[in-house]
Amino acid sequence: MLQTLSEVQALDLELDALATERGQTPPALTAARQSERALRADLQTRRAELNALRQRLNENELELASLQERRKKAAESALRAATGKEASQYQNQELQFATRLQELEEDTMPLLEEQESRQAAVDELQAKVDALQPEVEALEEDERARVAMLDERSRELTRRRAALAAGVPATLLKQYEQVRKARRGLGVVPVTEGGTCGGCNVRLPIFVVQKVRKGQGVTRCPSCGRLLWSSNG
Ligand SMILES: [Zn+2]
Repeated sequence: MLQTLSEVQALDLELDALATERGQTPPALTAARQSERALRADLQTRRAELNALRQRLNENELELASLQERRKKAAESALRAATGKEASQYQNQELQFATRLQELEEDTMPLLEEQESRQAAVDELQAKVDALQPEVEALEEDERARVAMLDERSRELTRRRAALAAGVPATLLKQYEQVRKARRGLGVVPVTEGGTCGGCNVRLPIFVVQKVRKGQGVTRCPSCGRLLWSSNG
């Protein structure tokens, strides 16, 4: 009975190990995911900056078009002016628009250059993301296969455990599960040759050792509470 329980425990320990292994993402995948996330975040920021710049350039374009229109109108008005004074007022206006136009064009030129270099940076980042993509996907694929294999193994062990556990009285199984949970690992341990607890190594009272070796009922270690069993018992 305790022998069977110790076999259940062997499977439980294997299941624990599988669960731990499942949680251990391969470092290469973690690194690739991090690189991709960092690149995408950078790309997003740079795209937003580029869009803000484009917006500014669009506004400049609109203002340039409007200034050109107003300059043209001032020039036409100057030609149609009835008096020399009126004509000179329009010419002044035209000159002001021309000056503003020139200033705005001068302000816009570096922005156009900036747009070009920012676009190049965005393209370069996008190319990096595109190049990394197949690598990340291949690693993700491997990871899915790895996890699926571990899950399949877990299911198989769980089936075997259920079959074995069916042969252990429910109350004993429950005691075992409670101790195992409290002790994080072992719920049933052997009594060593030297008469100590195989779980916490405490020296067991002789009557406890005898009781276990005779296989009289269920005995627990007075120190750690684990269920004790003896292979001779
Ligand atoms: Zn103990």
